[in-house]
Amino acid sequence: MKAKDIAELLDEPACEHNKKSKSGCAKPKPGSTAGGCAFDGAQIALLPIADVAHIVHGPIACAGSSWDNRGTRSSGPALYRIGMTTDLTEQDVVMGRAEKRLFHAIKQAIEDYRPPAVFIYNTCVPALIGDDIEAVCRAAEERWSVPVVPVDAAGFYGTKNLGNRIAGEAMVKYVVGTREPDPLPDAARQLPFKVHDINLVGEYNIAGEFWHVLPLLDELGVRVLCTLSGDARFREVQTMHRAEVNMMVCSKALINVARKMETQYQIPWFEGSFYGITDTSHALRDIARLINDPDLTARTEALIEREEARIRTELAPWRERLAGKRVLLYTGGVKSWSVISALQDLGMVVVATGTKKSTEEDKARIRELMGENTKMIEDGSPRALLDIVREYKADILIAGGRNMYTALKAKIPFLDINQEREFGYAGYQGMLELVRQLALTMESPVWQQVRKPAPWASSIVGEALTANMSKAG
Ligand code: SF4
Repeated sequence: MKAKDIAELLDEPACEHNKKSKSGCAKPKPGSTAGGCAFDGAQIALLPIADVAHIVHGPIACAGSSWDNRGTRSSGPALYRIGMTTDLTEQDVVMGRAEKRLFHAIKQAIEDYRPPAVFIYNTCVPALIGDDIEAVCRAAEERWSVPVVPVDAAGFYGTKNLGNRIAGEAMVKYVVGTREPDPLPDAARQLPFKVHDINLVGEYNIAGEFWHVLPLLDELGVRVLCTLSGDARFREVQTMHRAEVNMMVCSKALINVARKMETQYQIPWFEGSFYGITDTSHALRDIARLINDPDLTARTEALIEREEARIRTELAPWRERLAGKRVLLYTGGVKSWSVISALQDLGMVVVATGTKKSTEEDKARIRELMGENTKMIEDGSPRALLDIVREYKADILIAGGRNMYTALKAKIPFLDINQEREFGYAGYQGMLELVRQLALTMESPVWQQVRKPAPWASSIVGEALTANMSKAG
């Protein structure tokens, strides 16, 4: 990829971070773990396209660094779960046969699995030795008449966030607009209202949570042409240009896709979230507002009223158990505010929230939800998080999986909210799962047990032992 193309992707006008600096996203500080590389970001953004053969062109370790690290689910094909790589060695580099290996890998993937398309992810080694993956993809496409899409996202190009954008760019450049959507099925044509088409961008169907939302859209007569990329198929990505609205779901990662589709295909977009009752209703209203069909608006309002009433009744017994509990929320970006709204819907008090990856716009929404004096956490080190838990008397830490041991070692209930989570919390129905998991972790008897002093600490023998140990220490 040319330096000019990378600079252009970093300079994303629709991204709030851009107003501060043209860095794309916060750069890691020296000494901190850097997070994923650009290749990692590109692959996690596209891997959920379930029927595509995803080939990592590079040493095998690169494939291991990102394969399947989001718990995204497919309702059908499972080809995306087969890790494919050209497994380059130094022999291939020295002998100059990396491109040949790539060509053969594409051949093998096509012959063995007959995928509708193959995605090739470039990594550092082939980028450094100058492999022309675009040319190899073109040659393979001509040879087997199967779309072969180059995703040139070598790790050293930049951060994981840049990788997300490169992935989105590859979709807009090579895939979107290459096929027309399927005609509506007979049953849909006979409906007494018009069916509208939308896309969801940045929805990954983690733990299958989008399946909580899809039935609502079906009921409204809103057809999802494509979710980029949770539970997506290649043929769906091809038709994205025909949507009437793009919803950016809870993520800035693929913001360039929404912006470019607005410029190229005049598709309006908005940013929304399906976490919590308030935000789910808000997102449905925004879809109806942008489609601008009065009949759809009326049916959306009716659906919201019915669903909100239903879910509030079902949540009532849980609210009694959770209301007033104090939460420390440490997660990044859009989730820093979208999850606050879900927790407030349950009557919980969010005492502080992480804003390390949040934009100024995200922070403004946090202030709107939590008030001006809200505690925003920039330093997410274990020590800092634990100090805040104690200072603000939090009952639970809700954060990403990497903070799990910080919480457990400090004997604090913990809930995983990031992409590795095993339960889906989206939509009205997701709230029931969220309360269930919150109650399960906070009410677990294990916390009382582990917070008690050790049995030997209260006995005479134990006191002597402890004294000896501390002398020896
Ligand atoms: S930084 Fe380069 S070598 Fe490391 S995982 Fe990413 S692409 Fe592979």
